[in-house]
Amino acid sequence: MLIDSHCHIAGPEFAGDLDQVVTRAREAGVGRAFVILAADDQPELEQANQVSARWDSVRFSIGVHPHAAGKFASDPEEAAGQVGRALAAQPLSRAIGEIGLDYHYDFAPRDVQQQVFREQIRLAHRLKRPVVIHTREAEDDTFRVLTEERASEIGGVFHCFTGDRDMARRALDLGFHLSLAGIVTFPRALELKEVARMVPLDRLLVETDSPFLAPVPHRGKRNEPAHVARVAEVIAELRNTSAEAVAEATGENFDRLFVP
Ligand SMILES: [Zn+2]
Ligand SMILES: [Zn+2]
Repeated sequence: MLIDSHCHIAGPEFAGDLDQVVTRAREAGVGRAFVILAADDQPELEQANQVSARWDSVRFSIGVHPHAAGKFASDPEEAAGQVGRALAAQPLSRAIGEIGLDYHYDFAPRDVQQQVFREQIRLAHRLKRPVVIHTREAEDDTFRVLTEERASEIGGVFHCFTGDRDMARRALDLGFHLSLAGIVTFPRALELKEVARMVPLDRLLVETDSPFLAPVPHRGKRNEPAHVARVAEVIAELRNTSAEAVAEATGENFDRLFVP
């Protein structure tokens, strides 16, 4: 049974056909999903209950995304405060995230992104929860913050990993897991295919990041959890193993990391 380790199906893109999305996931062998919620998005936090009512095996991760860090520029601690309250209100929550740094879009000033990121790692220490990391074009600062905040003691996952083998090694050395998304199915993602071959099987997760990043042959359309099956198939081909073996290992990794 596969697990989609990162998707945003409590977002408005799925409000109209959630039943069908869940049915298609189950038919594709995707038994569970880890649904990411934005702590600063009240409608999404409420929609989470609609998702779990239809799919009781989902679990949630809640955080302030680096894109939203600017809302907390005057009070970065309040980002962690909101996350803490949202986690307490959602009994199926298991992790803090997605949190991190995004210097590609730079929607929030970089120093503010770093402060908001730090405060949430500190919260993860206090609550003893793992973290879901989003990092884009911010490799060195991401590792600096993670190291300074002793994130290796809490662990977690680099979601939608798109770095090279050196970056993968850095993340693995910190004790983190790597989650691969549909990008690994793109023909030109040669370096990422190398990463898919080198990650130890007990540190690997698979995800869709729905509604974003649909894999080949669905590229350009809204993504959904059912498509994680394609990600697992491509990784299995690259590693000369079966999709079932990838499903089994990534499911066990998920349970160990996020506690069912
Ligand atoms: Zn992300
Ligand atoms: Zn995401």
